Amino acid sequence: MPTERASFTDRRARAAAKLRERDLAALLATPGADLFYLTGYQLFTSERLTCLVLGGDGNATLVCPELEAPRAAAAAPDLERATWAETDDPYRLVGRLVRAAGGVAVADQMWAAFVLRLQATLPQRAFSAASEITRDLRMRKDASERDSLRLVAESADRAYARVLTRPFAGRTEREVGAELADLLREEGHDEVGFTIVASGPNGASPHHETGDRRIVDGDTVVLDFGGARRGYRSDITRTVQVGKTVESERQRVHDVVRRAQEAGYAAARKGTTAESVDAASRQVIAEAGYGSYFIHRTGHGIGLDGHEHPYLVRGNREPLEPGMAFSIEPGIYLPGRFGVRIEDIAVIDDDGSVRPLNRADHALATVA
Ligand code: ZN
Ligand code: ZN
Ligand code: ZN
Repeated sequence: MPTERASFTDRRARAAAKLRERDLAALLATPGADLFYLTGYQLFTSERLTCLVLGGDGNATLVCPELEAPRAAAAAPDLERATWAETDDPYRLVGRLVRAAGGVAVADQMWAAFVLRLQATLPQRAFSAASEITRDLRMRKDASERDSLRLVAESADRAYARVLTRPFAGRTEREVGAELADLLREEGHDEVGFTIVASGPNGASPHHETGDRRIVDGDTVVLDFGGARRGYRSDITRTVQVGKTVESERQRVHDVVRRAQEAGYAAARKGTTAESVDAASRQVIAEAGYGSYFIHRTGHGIGLDGHEHPYLVRGNREPLEPGMAFSIEPGIYLPGRFGVRIEDIAVIDDDGSVRPLNRADHALATVA
């Protein structure tokens, strides 16, 4: 179910209300997640300025280069546009559209090159981060966003199921990673974000850079991969074992991580804090004696960005609410030996319960 144009109008109205609450004149968003969220317009940033100017009065104008106008009109037909020709100054165009008194909120991911020019154009204005406006909106996913996250998660699940049938031993991490990327696209991703293939001792580095190590029989391999489909992102991790024989400690560590993830799920529901999910997963790993080998937070929010609020980390007392989508991804990393991580994306449903969006089998799979 694609997002209805009316939802973008509604999102802009809610963002405008927040601008008024904070006495801000406008929100400025260049290409990125905030722009896509507020307009449905997605494009890569280039040196030519494209910038949404959303006023506290709810008026929204997309400043865009003339050559991008047809594309912008197709993606967001309901949006006013102010186009600029190659020799115009687009910053002055933005400046003229910021009419009310007050500061301006700029998208967190706006390039410094743009921010500096905008500051020079609007010298009297205080600049702040737009996440203070968009964070709360984007964190609570509406029905169509949850649907998008479910579809992209299912696509990643299918890619995982298919990679299990391919040979691992004798191939390099890079080869398996390239294959995973192909499978993600074949299964419906329109963008591949990353394919981490961390084999053997490389598995002990949670964000290992997939490289030229040749995978051998007996390796434990962490596969962490994801991308996007129509803007919404996937992120899944499974750990597999190459060859029929599994060293007993590897199976045991995998069992601990699996129980840690289940404990995270058991703690996640409406009203519990983000940090309590982290604590529940961490406790299982600590009690098994591996506490010092779980070296990252338990999860992160996901949506139009791969990592966004809420973060499941100690100190985050934010209560979980319906519509929040996040990863639950405990791991154990034994330096020089191997690593295990299991990651799903989950969402808090309207009834307050947690629902996994990834349903790929969690067991330690054997691959050839
Ligand atoms: Zn990660
Ligand atoms: Zn991941
Ligand atoms: Zn993740």
